[in-house]
Amino acid sequence: MRHMTGIVPRIPVARPALPRAEAVLPYLRQIDATRTYSNHGPLVAEFERRIGDRLGLGERQALACASGTMALVGAIMAVRGRHPDKSLCLLPGYCFVAAAAAAGTCGYACHLVDVDPVNWALDPVALRDHPLLDRAGLVLVVAPYGRLPDLAAWELFSRETGVPVVVDAAASLDLFLESGIELPGSVPVALSLHATKSFGCGEGGLMLLGDRALAEDAFRSLNFGYLDTRVAMCPGLNGKMSEYHAAVAHAELDGFEEKRGNWRRVGDSYRAAFGHAEADRPWRLWSTPELSGSYVLCDGGTPDETTRLRNRLVEHGIETRFWYSGGIGGEPAYRDLASDPLHNTETLSARLLGMPCFVDLPDEDIGAIVAALT
Ligand SMILES: *Cc1c(COP(=O)(O)O)cnc(C)c1O
Repeated sequence: MRHMTGIVPRIPVARPALPRAEAVLPYLRQIDATRTYSNHGPLVAEFERRIGDRLGLGERQALACASGTMALVGAIMAVRGRHPDKSLCLLPGYCFVAAAAAAGTCGYACHLVDVDPVNWALDPVALRDHPLLDRAGLVLVVAPYGRLPDLAAWELFSRETGVPVVVDAAASLDLFLESGIELPGSVPVALSLHATKSFGCGEGGLMLLGDRALAEDAFRSLNFGYLDTRVAMCPGLNGKMSEYHAAVAHAELDGFEEKRGNWRRVGDSYRAAFGHAEADRPWRLWSTPELSGSYVLCDGGTPDETTRLRNRLVEHGIETRFWYSGGIGGEPAYRDLASDPLHNTETLSARLLGMPCFVDLPDEDIGAIVAALT
């Protein structure tokens, strides 16, 4: 993680910490015993059951997969069959590139829509009046930084408009586990278990499906089209999670109460340090539980002020990141996507600055980071 100056920052923006080898070893020994390495082996099945129990989902309604992006692809393929005639996808300009990649992979033409300036996401009320809605076969809702959208409102949107909705809540697993959020029946949710997320296993993902028929289709879509027989009932990819990743995921779940406590401590510590600095300035700090534990953001109020803050942090050897860069449309690969005017996307992209955030970030460093801002 180097800055353009070539200087290694004193405090990096992220420093993932997954379970230590000793915690994973008992699960690896189970793999030695079963000699099952993938294909929905016992560790994957048990991990799905543990997560499903925690979230109030039935068997095979929490599905482990190879990555958050594959979870999105699987969820999209599952709803795709319900609206095969419409190939337009409406998605927010402000999100991580994986959303556009997943929709494009599933054959949709993407059209970027601006986000709400207050909650940084698509607005289910405003979207009802979108002129392209009757051509849309998919709305891809993104939960930025894990900030959860109103899932019940999206369920209602989908029911009333007839347009399938998939939620990219890649970073939200800690918030789901904490609050036991009610999952809407017809709106699949995709999560990431990437190392940089609050709950990680290296590379991994989860699809959460409140509807059993959709869950079967999602399962098939990431298993070559197979369900319980080796007969491909729909086009499918290989998006399965391996037993090795499931081993790490179990160990992560075993230790997650402690890890979540650490995410909390980092967020609380930033808030305490920031409390003094924030007064009579246009800045605002965002942290868990409003966001996923793995993010602390500083909103400078304006792009110019945020740039000033960022430069000051760089001078002090503190790394920061605009996690969604300039939004999807700012990436060369997606520059030519159809798009509405994206005023809110553009200002949020230049205002929401990712601050260093990792479980063992010392309180003294947090104090130094906030001091460098002021
Ligand atoms: C991390 C992330 C993804 C991608 O997840 P992977 O597990 O890296 O494939 C997609 N969308 C959002 C919002 C993310 O934060």
